[in-house]
Amino acid sequence: DELISQIAAGEVVERPASVVRELVDNALDAGASQIQVKLMAGGVRAIAVEDDGLGIPLEELPLALKRHATSKIRSLDELESVHTMGFRGEALAAISSVAEMAVSSRFEGALHAHRLDARSGELQPAARSRGTSVEVRELFFSTPARRKFLKTDATELAHCVESVRRHALARPDVGFTVWHEGKLVEQWRQANSDTRLKDVLGDAFMAESRPVYAESGPLRIYGRAGLPEAARSRADMQYVYVNGRYVRDKLIAHGIRAAYEDVLHGHRQPCYVLFIEIAPDRVDVNVHPTKIEVRFRDGREVHQKVRYAVQDALALSRS
Ligand code: ADP
Ligand code: MG
Repeated sequence: DELISQIAAGEVVERPASVVRELVDNALDAGASQIQVKLMAGGVRAIAVEDDGLGIPLEELPLALKRHATSKIRSLDELESVHTMGFRGEALAAISSVAEMAVSSRFEGALHAHRLDARSGELQPAARSRGTSVEVRELFFSTPARRKFLKTDATELAHCVESVRRHALARPDVGFTVWHEGKLVEQWRQANSDTRLKDVLGDAFMAESRPVYAESGPLRIYGRAGLPEAARSRADMQYVYVNGRYVRDKLIAHGIRAAYEDVLHGHRQPCYVLFIEIAPDRVDVNVHPTKIEVRFRDGREVHQKVRYAVQDALALSRS
């Protein structure tokens, strides 16, 4: 099982930012309204994610670290879909197979918190308010070959912050802070969606972008599209969400690109944040273990609607 976990970890945990992504995901699933991410040495030395969510009941704490022991699968149907999703209830197990990990949690109504050390299995009383803290230390300590692939601390830190940023754009109702070596590096307070976009992407992006809105049947597309003059040399401000989940999808990217076709030349990259809401039966969001790719039942329609939505926002004529 240890080996299987390590193999799973290979798909899930590529670098500190992947750990941050999974831990923040869990905090959001637990209904957190404030999430703190604390990093040391770009997250390679330590990552701690603290939330004020529901917490984990004492008796479920050891289960949380076991593969497929997820509490989020409740029916047989869901259990069967584990196979195709490949990925429920694996993140903590995978991370703990390639790093030191401790989980402290205080469940709603519990008298105090408990801390579980993944390696020793030691369970101790701990102090904290309602919610969960997961600490991950010395990522890839036992797999030096993997550790060698990590970049500088500054680069790993940038990826970690980007991981939080992706969550933050989609969840303005949740406050996020990111600390590095004890210093506050980002703070996004709970806000409405426009304020969150401004806080995360900056005033310049707001000034140089236009709101996107389109609705048709089971499909709703909204967000902001950067004007052609806001385009960059790098594709580093392109955010797409499908049903609240950050994705990198070729079809959508192509639809957006098509909208800019006549106004962007060379390798200039448009900036955008697009939220696509679609009926769940029209999309498979679990193509990839990190859930970053999607497959649409009607890709052509999505492609066209995305393209037109962005063109309308930019007030470009449809060719
Ligand atoms: P999954 O999220 O797919 O269920 P994980 O390995 O990420 O699997 O987490 C395993 C389980 O641990 C979760 O199902 C949940 O019950 C519990 N858990 C993990 N992180 C938290 C958290 N921050 N707050 C509450 N419960 C958590
Ligand atoms: Mg998870």
